[in-house]
Amino acid sequence: MATIYHDEHADLEAIRGQTIAILGYGNQGSAQAQNLRDSGLPVVVGNIEDAYRQQAVSDGFEVISIPEATTRGDLVFLLIPDEVMPEVYARDVAPHLAPGKLLCFAHGYNIAFGLIEPPQFVDVVMIAPRMIGAGVRQSYLSGEGFASFVGVHQDATGRAKQRMLALAKALGSTRAGCLEISMKDEATLDLFTEQAFGPAFGRVMMTAIDTLVEAGFPPEAVLMELYLSGELAYSFLKMRELGALRQHELHSHTSQYGTISRSLRYLDLDPILKQKMRESLDEIRSGAFAREWSTNREEKLEFIKRAREIQASLPMTRWEEETRRAFRIGDAAKNATSEIPSPIRREP
Ligand code: NDP
Repeated sequence: MATIYHDEHADLEAIRGQTIAILGYGNQGSAQAQNLRDSGLPVVVGNIEDAYRQQAVSDGFEVISIPEATTRGDLVFLLIPDEVMPEVYARDVAPHLAPGKLLCFAHGYNIAFGLIEPPQFVDVVMIAPRMIGAGVRQSYLSGEGFASFVGVHQDATGRAKQRMLALAKALGSTRAGCLEISMKDEATLDLFTEQAFGPAFGRVMMTAIDTLVEAGFPPEAVLMELYLSGELAYSFLKMRELGALRQHELHSHTSQYGTISRSLRYLDLDPILKQKMRESLDEIRSGAFAREWSTNREEKLEFIKRAREIQASLPMTRWEEETRRAFRIGDAAKNATSEIPSPIRREP
């Protein structure tokens, strides 16, 4: 069983009198800075001149440049986007580090794949929330807290773990629980979910849509049945609350019998899925993916842009948009007008 830390394992005394520098006031930076301040700790924000800087000022923080904040901070949080972090680190952070400082990452990526190599004289830790920034703030305010993966990568002071746990407590994370894991494993799990689980799940969904639309079902009904109604999202929520298998008991007996008896038909997909997932895992672990993503970045961004354009032109995107507007779902609700035909009539 992995080691999981809670409030009782952490003591704020480990960081008493130490200044926190939050570098980057975006999704995570703004949430973490506010949580730490509300826990009674001194926080300065280091940010470039942009809208986020204005936000930090209006939230009442002292905002200085990234090099100045690194110099001022004893506990330095790198909360800028992962892809620009190595460059910003080399230029604005590394020259201002001194013995005894602590670097805290919210994701293991840059350390795991050798894109940032901090000097031996600083502590290097990870507090990686399994939660978006808004949730980090909200769950702090509600008292519920949020789960994180945590780990000490480098212990220069002999106090890295106590400092990390104190910070996790002040952030509101030990309230829910912090699971200890290496930065490499955290980054690998994260990338695997994005690069293997996500695409495999996506193919299953697309195949189901194709099968049903080809069989003559209205696309709007298919999308509603599969995910737009929110029933699937609700089941995922229940997987968390009750367990993946136990949540199934919430469904009808017809559903339970049909799912269990027919699951066996899909068992022969396992070997091919496993083979592809192992390939993805090897590619991530060996650093091949990180090297690919770091090379010719402009080309990769162009690739994303082209893929988005293709997606926008797919019939599925139009079906989704029309169905979401007609049922007033999510951000489509505000675009809903009385002219939207309901029920939707498909063009022949
Ligand atoms: P954001 O994109 O929300 O914000 C990053 C901040 O960095 C902004 O203030 C941004 O300002 C600034 N920034 C961007 N480019 C530069 C640059 N070249 N030089 C200096 N500052 C820059 O990042 P996130 O909060 O999403 O991510 C921060 C870290 O948290 C990452 O390591 C990420 O993996 C991790 N994380 C994120 C989660 C999430 O839900 N978003 C969840 C868990 C971990 P501007 O854009 O104006 O340049």
